[in-house]
Amino acid sequence: MNEMSKIAAQPEYSEAVRNQLKRAPALFIGGEWVASSHDKTIAVYDPSTGKEIARIADASDQDVDRAVAAARTAFDDGRWSGLPPYQRQRLIEKLADLLEAAIPELAELESIDNGKPRMASEHYDLPRSVATLRYMAGWATKISGEHIEPAGVPAGTMHAYVRREPIGVCAQIVPWNFPLMMAVQKIAPALAAGCTIVLKPAEQTSLTALRLADLAAEAGLPAGVLNIVTGLGETAGDRMVRHPDVDKVAFTGSTEVGKIINRNATETLKRVTLELGGKSPVIVLPDVDIRKTAQGAARSIFANSGQVCIAGSRLYAHKDVFDALLEAVAENASQWKVGPSLAPDTMMGPLVSTEQHERVLGYIEQGRKAGATVLAGGDAPGGDGYFVNPTILVDVKPDMSVVREEIFGPVLTAQRYDDLDEVARAANDTTYGLAASVWTRDVSAMHRLAAKLKAGMVWGNTPSAADTALPFGGYKQSGFGRENGRYGIEAYTELKTVAIAL
Ligand code: NAP
Ligand code: MG
Repeated sequence: MNEMSKIAAQPEYSEAVRNQLKRAPALFIGGEWVASSHDKTIAVYDPSTGKEIARIADASDQDVDRAVAAARTAFDDGRWSGLPPYQRQRLIEKLADLLEAAIPELAELESIDNGKPRMASEHYDLPRSVATLRYMAGWATKISGEHIEPAGVPAGTMHAYVRREPIGVCAQIVPWNFPLMMAVQKIAPALAAGCTIVLKPAEQTSLTALRLADLAAEAGLPAGVLNIVTGLGETAGDRMVRHPDVDKVAFTGSTEVGKIINRNATETLKRVTLELGGKSPVIVLPDVDIRKTAQGAARSIFANSGQVCIAGSRLYAHKDVFDALLEAVAENASQWKVGPSLAPDTMMGPLVSTEQHERVLGYIEQGRKAGATVLAGGDAPGGDGYFVNPTILVDVKPDMSVVREEIFGPVLTAQRYDDLDEVARAANDTTYGLAASVWTRDVSAMHRLAAKLKAGMVWGNTPSAADTALPFGGYKQSGFGRENGRYGIEAYTELKTVAIAL
């Protein structure tokens, strides 16, 4: 332990979690836990301590092929897509019930694995996962096609309709920032639509997805419907993306990897949905309540240690309120207690990995060298974990890397503006287009800005409104396709037009 550290020690793990960590590395394929074809494994670290706590399987090409074959058979024989939709609904609801009952254990496991505060896992990630399963379960019995009257033939001479059918075998690849929540956000609509799945969690954070496999088996999901394969993106993930028996790839992660995946999936013209990075603006008009807005702006960038695709990482405050607002945001930042994930008073945990730690500190250094002023944080508080203090950079220029690139850490850049057209242009001056938030009591300015912003989601007077019913996804290089809501389940279906001459 670093002597200068202000970081408390990570509390002891519970017995239930210690037992989970002792499990032999295994893959969940065809409804069973199986060993990998080779004996390569990946180390799992607790980011709060930097200590290795477990090992997981590093799936081989052969393992991925087995998982895809299991999913292919389970799709093609109709054991899932052929069920009455009501039965699919009930099974997904059963999984939700089991997950809900396991919240304390899974929240602890998630926090140990990812570093996020236990409070956040327990009161956000896990309940959201349960809610997503329940919401999507309901769609299993609602999603259907439509009857359409053909335009070019006499009325009543042709019966035409559009069927909505499940796409088939889905490869789902998820990141480490909300490990279980991201996995469930992918699995739930695919299951509801009648698809079968091979899911690869991120190499850093696979533990809760493995527990989800236990619960899926307990819920009675037919074998092969959900397969969970742990491994590396460049090997196991790549194999999934290129596999000829996979019909769709759904990915959440970096824009860089999203582009690679999109290219590789094109070879077999798979359906692809991508939820990628962001550099989301937070736009503050001069009429706001400073204290409330500062609190929202801080939450937007410091929650989950800034490791959020929708993080509000670029603050634009009107020149009349800039100084007062920044003072309030800095004051708020100082209240974000940095600490180990299991300590009850921790508000901000460590970053997920030593790589991410170096990357974020590297960006702060780049910003400093380019002339930015550090208004808060800018350093690591010490300790053996991957901690970074909540950081605010001012005196930044639009061309600095800290303003242009996704840092994925607790680093806010702040700039001032004069009028709405100017701030809309500045906010849109990015290759990303995931989200934006606008803070004002002026309803007309709110809607005018909402229309001008090139982002998949615009939120007013709240740091975010990600909701299972509302479409989630980005413009530009933030990806394509939408998750959640009706669009989220439709993304797991193909349309088939049937036209019969009468
Ligand atoms: P990443 O590489 O995009 O990882 C996301 C997932 O894709 C992981 O499961 C990863 O496997 C897998 N993957 C990587 N390369 C692949 C390939 N060639 N084919 C198929 N799958 C592949 O993200 P990261 O490396 O964890 O983080 C890098 C940066 O991405 C972060 O610093 C952050 O800026 C950004 N990021 C953004 C989001 C977001 O939601 N917008 C999420 C995570 C990260 P591995 O686990 O083996 O890497
Ligand atoms: Mg990676």
